[in-house]
Amino acid sequence: MNCLLCGQSTKSDLTFSHLLLFKNERNYLCSACDSTFEKIGEYHCPSCMKRGLSTKCKDCKLWCKEGIQVDHKAIFTYNQAMKDFFSRYKFDGDFLLRKVFAPVLADELKKYRDYEFVVIPLSPERLLERGFNQVEGLVEAAGFSFQDLLGKREEKASSSKNRSERLATEIPFYIKTEAPLPKKILVIDDIYTTGATINRVKRLFEEAGVLGVKTFSLVR
Ligand SMILES: [Zn+2]
Ligand SMILES: [Zn+2]
Repeated sequence: MNCLLCGQSTKSDLTFSHLLLFKNERNYLCSACDSTFEKIGEYHCPSCMKRGLSTKCKDCKLWCKEGIQVDHKAIFTYNQAMKDFFSRYKFDGDFLLRKVFAPVLADELKKYRDYEFVVIPLSPERLLERGFNQVEGLVEAAGFSFQDLLGKREEKASSSKNRSERLATEIPFYIKTEAPLPKKILVIDDIYTTGATINRVKRLFEEAGVLGVKTFSLVR
């Protein structure tokens, strides 16, 4: 088959060692494209996987003061190749690219066997504009399902507010259902930057009585 990013054939990647290890997972990338993505590695904040330190980072300590115990896993760094990927996938709307990380995502997500997955939703207006939720695409391509428990309100124009006012306002997410919630939830997003979105959703579920809430993103 051909690499989803550059179109080169990936056939040469089927080496003897692949055969020997019975690796029959599909390769969606050629080895050249594959090597442009960078995994986070071993040296990172134990709570949020921020690189460059091995103790709890400043941000995680701040979240702690807000009553949020950060418990986040991510796979890749947000390097240039990853920025390019998301620009094609999200903004050009190339839905086929949801498969690019399917094998590596499947490997990670299967570690959360007793968790129900919840994907960070888009607002209705954004969903209409993009045509798909990019996080749902990634999770489905990896072969997993998720529960539709979380909604997002339309974002109001916030030009009249300054930054701190915006940060202080309520999060735009809400729990859709009145049915009992699962005991354990993994909240999944595509990219963790400040962690503001995903950690506030974590707290939303915790306040609703979910005992075990962890968070996960493809990229940190
Ligand atoms: Zn390629
Ligand atoms: Zn941290």
